[in-house]
Amino acid sequence: MPSVVIAGAGLVGALNACFFAQKGWDVSVYEFRRDIRTMKHVQGRSINLALSQRGKSALEAVGLKEYIVNQGVPLYARLIHNKDGKTYNRQPYGKPGEHIVSINRRHLNEVMITQAEKSPNVKFFFEHKVKSVDYDKKQAEHEEFHVEADLILACDGAYSAVRRSLMTIPRFDFSQEYIEHGYVELNIMANNNEFAFEENVFHLWPRGHFTLIALANRDKTFTVTIFAPFTEFEKHMSTTEDVLSFFEENFPDAYQLLGKEHIADTFNRVKPQSLVSIKCSPHSFFDNLVLMGDAAHAMVPFYGQGMNCGFEDCLVFSETLEEQGNDIANAVQVYSERRVNDAHTINDLAMYNYEELKDLVNRNSYKLRKKFDSIMNSIFPKSWIPLYSMVTFTRIPYSEVIERRKKQDKILSSLLTTTSTFALIGAPHVYFSVMPSVVIAGGGLVGAVNACFFGQRGWKVTVYESRPDPRDSCLEHGKSINLALGCRAIGALELIGLKERVIEMGVPIREKLRYQGKKEGVFEKVQTLNEGDFPGEFIVSVQYILTINRHRLSQLLVSEAVKYNNVKFLFNCKATKFDLNSETLLVETPDGLVTVDGDLILACDGAHSSIRKSLLKVARFNFSQKYCDIGYIDLSVNIQDSRELKLGVHNSWRTDGVILVALVNKNQTLTVSMFANFSVFEEYFSTPEDSVQFFKTKIPVVYGMMGE
Ligand SMILES: Cc1cc2nc3c(=O)[nH]c(=O)nc-3n(C[C@H](O)[C@H](O)[C@H](O)COP(=O)(O)OP(=O)(O)OC[C@H]3O[C@@H](n4cnc5c(N)ncnc54)[C@H](O)[C@@H]3O)c2cc1C
Repeated sequence: MPSVVIAGAGLVGALNACFFAQKGWDVSVYEFRRDIRTMKHVQGRSINLALSQRGKSALEAVGLKEYIVNQGVPLYARLIHNKDGKTYNRQPYGKPGEHIVSINRRHLNEVMITQAEKSPNVKFFFEHKVKSVDYDKKQAEHEEFHVEADLILACDGAYSAVRRSLMTIPRFDFSQEYIEHGYVELNIMANNNEFAFEENVFHLWPRGHFTLIALANRDKTFTVTIFAPFTEFEKHMSTTEDVLSFFEENFPDAYQLLGKEHIADTFNRVKPQSLVSIKCSPHSFFDNLVLMGDAAHAMVPFYGQGMNCGFEDCLVFSETLEEQGNDIANAVQVYSERRVNDAHTINDLAMYNYEELKDLVNRNSYKLRKKFDSIMNSIFPKSWIPLYSMVTFTRIPYSEVIERRKKQDKILSSLLTTTSTFALIGAPHVYFSVMPSVVIAGGGLVGAVNACFFGQRGWKVTVYESRPDPRDSCLEHGKSINLALGCRAIGALELIGLKERVIEMGVPIREKLRYQGKKEGVFEKVQTLNEGDFPGEFIVSVQYILTINRHRLSQLLVSEAVKYNNVKFLFNCKATKFDLNSETLLVETPDGLVTVDGDLILACDGAHSSIRKSLLKVARFNFSQKYCDIGYIDLSVNIQDSRELKLGVHNSWRTDGVILVALVNKNQTLTVSMFANFSVFEEYFSTPEDSVQFFKTKIPVVYGMMGE
């Protein structure tokens, strides 16, 4: 088996040892400190760390995830403590159940060392300091002796000696930036063996240019960290008196629980520690050396990603090695190409997140965006994932995270522009490339309106319609010939710019006449429509109901939708099912069954929706359907003249259990709709002769206009 030398048995070095132990390589780990398992106190950074998805995935690969996670405290939300010390504001991290885990750094490190050591092929050399790399020999160099290996992993932390010795290599880019803020850690002890605060949240006291955080530990204590500019520490926290009044004023509730003595004692003993952000490129050298973890990308701790990113390094490298058939030279190079960009990105994001932690979380704009992101995420669970969730709860490469966020920002600004001013309507190509996709099942009226709506906004729209293209036929069999559009429908048509066209095509109904008299053919005017009859008047002003031919409306909507380059209608294609596992749509096309996917799927496939049918087994989906006893028949005939019935009047009759509505259309046709109980249909209309007889005797006006 090949051999690997690991510099540093910190978090990343120890995890790498587990990975290579599992692969059966010969592993030698050189660690500068004593074995932490034998130490009473371990000097160093944060007592606890937030473990999230990337870290968990890496631990899972070496079989440690479950054990480690069970040793931690899950945190589901940020709890923001207001300055009054009494009120809070809770901001969940992600969807219900999504959480990070507060883990004890030392325990985690110890578990990984012990796990790696279980393999006979792994050796830890404690109190062995790696000094440098000898370029020519390509070996890690120990204080007293040289060590050789097929692969060298430099996991010796932010101040990496290995990295330092590479500084003079041509084209090695390096930057380090100390931020002006430092940190001091304190503790809140258990209160009667109970947590002094709520334990399953990340406690946060954002105060503008400084902030305090607290994470629970399994022993019911909290590790509390104050981050502030060094100038603030000097100005307000350099004497006992100052620091106590500073804490009392800014974090009154934490002040009570920390206790005066503990605060005073800590600030007397401990100086604020600095925070550094390090970027370098490449991460690999020669054909066998890789920098990983903080040695490659130390970052400020505000995204809780330093360790998670380092753990993901181990996983990505292991995956790359496998992918490259264990060819070390190739893997080393490919890994660096993959990882540098991601590391730079999370470094920058971590800097940005400090703004969030110390200030932005309190701002309305931040809260609004968080709310918006969460709504969008519930609609587009795959394509609109909030920034924090992408970083924390997924393994989407960091660089892709930022690209996705940019897209979201762009969409958001387009939406704001389109909804407020319609400025971008008509120019969808400007932002089409970044727009999401929508798949619409059903190209009927609602599907086609949706196609226009999303088409206009630049989305990539695909409509699957089981029937043929309505533009190819002049008659539609099926449902009602005429439709009555009220202000809600007209309002929607106005949104897609078709209100005027539709109004032009339709017939406004301003009057209703109902036949009520005993004497046949006598009408009584019962109602004239007026403004008050239209709730929702604010949406759009129409003072009538508009009747329109269903088929012509359908033709218009499809024709308008396909004018957008980004809209495609596929006719004779039936969406048959929504697959709950893959969250895709199955569509029967003339060429066979296909699976389609979109950022958004709209099921507009009508009352007998196949999509809805496939969702029936989804938990808590309530559904009921009830057929009523009433059926209907639509008739449409050409008429010679419409003297008897006028255009623009809704005429109705009620006789012998039959309701009959007649409307004159613009094209000299008469549309008659009859509604009756099925038993009535059987009684009066089971033969053509009976039907003629019914009209002749009961509704002679209509009979006269329609003819036998
Ligand atoms: C205040 C604070 C809070 C943080 N919170 C989080 C968090 O919540 N979540 C998160 O993901 N990350 C967090 N981090 C970041 C995280 O601590 C680091 O990213 C992580 O420790 C990096 O692991 P590492 O193994 O690369 O480096 P280290 O943990 O620094 O380990 C390096 C090891 O190398 C050894 N070493 C150094 N030099 C030599 C040498 N010359 N020869 C041999 N051995 C050597 C060291 O003794 C050490 O054991 C936080 C950091 C800070 C400062």
